[in-house]
Amino acid sequence: MKIGIMISDISNSLFRRPITELYPFERRETPESLRGMLHWNSENCTGCGLCAKDCPANAIDLIVLDKKAKRFVLSYHPDRCTFCAQCVHSCRQGCLEMSNEEWELASLDKDQFHVLYGVKEDVENILAGSPLPDVDRIE
Ligand code: SF4
Ligand code: SF4
Repeated sequence: MKIGIMISDISNSLFRRPITELYPFERRETPESLRGMLHWNSENCTGCGLCAKDCPANAIDLIVLDKKAKRFVLSYHPDRCTFCAQCVHSCRQGCLEMSNEEWELASLDKDQFHVLYGVKEDVENILAGSPLPDVDRIE
């Protein structure tokens, strides 16, 4: 490199604003298609278990408490999830979606990496380790 070009590059760099971003103090809007945390809406869930069966990372278990009464709990492991969205595509009822806002999922607390979705009482029973009636687990 010629010395003249080098000096010009150095002086340009000295007076130019850095192109790096001041994350986390400055944040860009996330693209709509970004795949973050998985969320489950139980309303239309039929308990078919396709989301769990099709998950290549074994990140979802469907706990079937009562299929007739549509009592299910969805157990999700964000630390295993590859954010491929296969479960979202597999669900014919549109129960699953990935948030484009919840994507900063790193944590020092291991409990953050196991999420139970479902009716509060069922989730609390599972967390408390209470014996559950004849439960099926679709993995
Ligand atoms: S996004 Fe992919 S890896 Fe994550 S739970 Fe769904 S199917 Fe599994
Ligand atoms: S694929 Fe959809 S309907 Fe089937 S168990 Fe999963 S969330 Fe429920």
